[in-house]
Amino acid sequence: MRAARIHEHGGPEVLRVEDCDDPRPGPREALIRQTATSVNHRDIWIRKGLPDDTFQYPLPTILGIDVSGEIVAVGDEVGDLRVGDRVICNPYIACGRCHACLRQHPHHCARIDISNGAYAQLVAVPEERLIKLDPSVPAEHAACFANTYITAWEMLITKARIMPDDVVFVWAGTSGLGSAAIDIAKVVGATVIATAGRSEKLEVLKGLGPDLVLDHYNDDIVARVNELTGGMGANVVFEHVGHATWQRSIDLAASGARIVSAGLTSGQMLEMDVVQMIMKQFTITGSCLGTMAAARGAVSQLNKGRLRPLIGKTVPLSEIVSAHRMLDEGEIAGKLMIDLEA
Ligand SMILES: [Zn+2]
Repeated sequence: MRAARIHEHGGPEVLRVEDCDDPRPGPREALIRQTATSVNHRDIWIRKGLPDDTFQYPLPTILGIDVSGEIVAVGDEVGDLRVGDRVICNPYIACGRCHACLRQHPHHCARIDISNGAYAQLVAVPEERLIKLDPSVPAEHAACFANTYITAWEMLITKARIMPDDVVFVWAGTSGLGSAAIDIAKVVGATVIATAGRSEKLEVLKGLGPDLVLDHYNDDIVARVNELTGGMGANVVFEHVGHATWQRSIDLAASGARIVSAGLTSGQMLEMDVVQMIMKQFTITGSCLGTMAAARGAVSQLNKGRLRPLIGKTVPLSEIVSAHRMLDEGEIAGKLMIDLEA
């Protein structure tokens, strides 16, 4: 099979498209043939070799976390899945043995891992992390779904528990994670305020249907949110940018707001006036991908045709180096899909 691997850490040029041995499914695994996958910021952080344990894998390694496709073989002990089923994989791995897992809190697993290996035509995955896809789901939607939608679902549905009468504020609404958050918040029926930063992206953002679109470079974001909400602020702040947006996230949060944070693409060292937290009594919740409960919830809506990933560009696997450059430079509105057959 063809796959994109790194043998060393570094810039996009360390990615190599190679012929690799086909994986064999273990007794409780299914072998999935993929036609497409997508790139995520996590792939870049692993490629660069960021020091946190969560980004360290033995080399060489196949990058990529969004696995979906058709099952072409199953191990002897696989129960409910059959050859020919279409499935999507939740890349979040809870250990099943730590104190939190034993208390049925897998979202707080002390030894979480996230699976790699999606930049490949064949992937072997344990049965318990697979969810069946309805035949009506387009392959490209499945390819651009897992990381962003399961993460956004865990943040908005599981952690922030959004309701139809909430005002949900989403930074960078044309990013993969931001666009997933808008999609999910709209399914719930909440009021959505979202931002983008360039005229082309603002146009794309309007097409996603948020109730208010703001320019995060030129608008006074806090003033505009207060204007829309009668001075209340946003009940839920979807934070995934970090350093560049954190103070404004605090300023635009309503009294009692839920601020949910993942991603931190602009930097992770933040300052905060704790008095604002005390006076507004808001909560800040970190979030990391999502449990199988979150994944099943998100995929149930995908299977009903209610969620539709924003796909900005498709690049063949042979051009994976340029795909990483584009994601690094933030040029694309929406997900960058990798065609594994081209
Ligand atoms: Zn655990």
